[in-house]
Parts: sequence; C-alpha cells; structure tokens
Amino acid sequence: MAKTSARSKQPTGRPARPARQIAAANATGIPETYAARIAAVRERLAREKLDGLLLNRRTDQVWLTGFTGEDGALLVTSRGVTLISDGRFEETARREAPWAKAIIRKQRGPDSIAIVLKAQRLTKVGFDPDQTSHALFLGLRKAAPKIDLNPCGGWLSAAREVKIDDEISRIRRAVAVAERAFLKVKKSLRPDLTERQIAAALVYEMTRGGASGPAFAPIVATGANAALPHYAPEDVPIGRSGLLLIDWGAKVDGYVSDLTRVIALGTVPPNLAAAYRAVRGAHDRAVAAAKPGLPCARLDRVARSHLSQAGLSKAFNHSLGHGIGLDVHELPSLRKSNKATLQVGNVITIEPGAYLPGVGGVRLESDVWITKDGAEVLSSLPLDW
Ligand code: ZN
Ligand code: ZN
Repeated sequence: MAKTSARSKQPTGRPARPARQIAAANATGIPETYAARIAAVRERLAREKLDGLLLNRRTDQVWLTGFTGEDGALLVTSRGVTLISDGRFEETARREAPWAKAIIRKQRGPDSIAIVLKAQRLTKVGFDPDQTSHALFLGLRKAAPKIDLNPCGGWLSAAREVKIDDEISRIRRAVAVAERAFLKVKKSLRPDLTERQIAAALVYEMTRGGASGPAFAPIVATGANAALPHYAPEDVPIGRSGLLLIDWGAKVDGYVSDLTRVIALGTVPPNLAAAYRAVRGAHDRAVAAAKPGLPCARLDRVARSHLSQAGLSKAFNHSLGHGIGLDVHELPSLRKSNKATLQVGNVITIEPGAYLPGVGGVRLESDVWITKDGAEVLSSLPLDW
C-alpha cells in the first residue's frame, strides 16, 4: 500500500492474535524480548529525567508487553508496567501479560488514567503526542494538574524500526499467507467478477490460510481505476482488457505483509505497457541498491530517476516505500526528503508506481529485509503480469 501523506493510515482488520511467548521468561516472569524493550524505555526515562511513559497506541502496547486488548493505555515506570484497560480485556491481560499490573477501569477517559498516575506519585510523565488525542491530553491536565506532561514523540517508532529474528519470521509468514491467497484468487479470475468480489475473496483466502485478517482493506482496481493509488474497490466487473492492480497484505501473529502486483486482463494499452516496463526497472534497481547505511532519500532517488528517464516523473506521485511490522506504515519512510539511513533489521516496502489518468496504473511492491550483507526480498511471487 502506497503511503501518500504524512499521516499514516492505521491498519484495518482484527487485532493481533495473542503473541506467542516470543522468548523464554526471565526471573521476573517477563519474556526476555519484552524485558529488553522495557529496559530500553527505562534507560531513556532516566536519561530524560522522567518518571513514567504513557503509551496509547495499540501496537506500541503489543510491542512492549504482548497485550493485544483493543482498549487501554500502558504506563511504564522505573518500578513497574501497568495496563489500564476495561473489563472486556481483563482475561486477555491475564493471559498475555500476567507479569504486568492490570488495572480494570470502570469508565473511559482521562480520569481513570489520572488516578493511576497520581496513585503512583508520578510528577513528570512522558506521552507520545502523535498518539494522544487533544481531548485526552486536556483531560489529564485537568484531572492531574500537578503532573508535568512531557511530549516524547517517536521513542517507540524509532525502536520498532529495527526488527528481531522473531519479528522477521512473523513477517515471512504474513508474506507467505498473502502470496498463497493471491495465487488462489488469481486462478479463479473471470471478467464478470467485480473489484469488490475479488477483494472479498482475498480476505477470505488469507483468513482461511492462517491470517488473523487482512493487513488493510485490499485495493483491487481495474483499468482506469488503477490510476488512483489509494482506490477503494467498487461493484464494477474487471472486464477483459487493461491491467488489474491488486495491493493487499495479511496480518499473521500481529505482523503484516504489504504487496502489489498487476495482472493483464487482455490487451494492454501501449503506454501502460511502457509504464509497466519502467516501473519494473525502477523496482529492480531499488531492490538491488537497498543496503544498510544507504540514505532513504537516495533509495527513493534510484527508482525516481529511472522513472524520470522514461518520462514518468509526474506519474510517480508517492514515496518509494515504508517500513512494515505491527503496523502497515512504520519507519523508515522512503521519501525523497528523508536523510535517515537504512539499518540492519529494517523491513521496508519497495513500491514504485506510475499512474496514467484515464488509462490505468502500475505499481509493483515487494517486502524487503535489510540485512548486514545487503537486502533480502521476503516476497517470492513473480512480478510479471
Ligand atoms: Zn501496498
Ligand atoms: Zn505499501
């Protein structure tokens, strides 16, 4: 899925399946993976002279504790880890993070969080301004006026950017499930099937194949509809000519895949065929260039300059790709202004595209793991149409 704006679209679909115990538990009963992540947060808290970090993003909570409940906040202090959720997730918390203190609140809103902050006698608490609503912030300030709330933007996003082996295995499974579903659906394509029916079939096959759900609502776009990078499928038959664009992904064990392929339905207009060849060239060059230490902007430029040479610079109207993990859009962002460099452990999409209004569109998207030797493409579906 192409990222077209600064605000990332949160994945749709069901919440992550309870994380399997991802490593042996240590003496405190906390699985090693979570213990290491919590220790890193605590080090940062000490450095920044804060006595707690309040997290509201679901996937940050999953990443730090394994707790997948749909509602709640997470508080990390030097002494403990507290989950604040409601009664529906009491048992979930007990199963998934029995080592954390679970506080089941009676009401929604900032008051229940403020009670916990005050009970723990905290004075300087960090929060993620990108993930905290203005209403919650104002409510906390009102309910706990003596607590100093400090914006700590991006702490977890930066840490989550580098994946451990267990996360790579989960993403590999999410890729495999998505690819198998695609092959099944591709085999059963008929001109009278609608974009929506194909999107539904993909979701069905992915779920049947082991996904907890789609990573996001699949994009299935036929003919000129594919000129819209973030098109939503409609009740239109795919027909017998042009290119069908499919952008889909699965969520498996909490982690996502994100792939795009095009399929020729019959005669393909010559300008669209030329766009396909240029996008394919841009994709292959970017995959070959990806390696640790390379600035994200430079990788974007590898693909963009190839498309420019083909006269398609204006037709490629989004960034080259983005990180994937628990969320569909994570760091790093492969946009032309991002000076950050690729790191070992990043998993990124490489998804150049070319969109010809009134004619159609091409996008080819692979999921790529940055390794110490360069990069490994985790997806294996052919890129041909
Ligand atoms: Zn995609
Ligand atoms: Zn994408």
